[in-house]
Amino acid sequence: METKGARLEEWSQRIAEHGGRVTRPRRVVMQVLLEAETPLSPQEICTRARRRYPSLGLVTVYRTLDVLETLAVVRRVHREDGCHAYLPATPGHHHLLLCRRCGRAMEFSGWDALDGLIAELEAATGYRVEEHLLQLIGLCPRCYAQLKEGERG
Ligand SMILES: [Zn+2]
Ligand SMILES: [Zn+2]
Repeated sequence: METKGARLEEWSQRIAEHGGRVTRPRRVVMQVLLEAETPLSPQEICTRARRRYPSLGLVTVYRTLDVLETLAVVRRVHREDGCHAYLPATPGHHHLLLCRRCGRAMEFSGWDALDGLIAELEAATGYRVEEHLLQLIGLCPRCYAQLKEGERG
């Protein structure tokens, strides 16, 4: 498994290859993303990153996230509070499981049984589907266990 430090260097290199500047505030934003346990909203990223780089602006956070999303190294998550949050992405096509209680997210792949549904939809609507995003929301094993525990106690 690659380390967070290696990943930070890889992201920085990708940004530079695409003509972006790798500034200190951008690096701090990337560090915060890589260290987070759950997907973070731009505001949450900004708050954490300011502990290390107090003059960081929210605009810089948004711009950095835009670049990282374009490079497909971060993934956007839709949270129930209406915020978008971001997490480091595994390369390739993945789906997402999100815990509504603690906010933990998990990517998964290899269970793409959507082809039949997509074919039916295309036939019914005339649309040609080119890609899809799938995010499932529920409870992670830990939260589910805690909830069961609470019901018993
Ligand atoms: Zn949870
Ligand atoms: Zn899929």
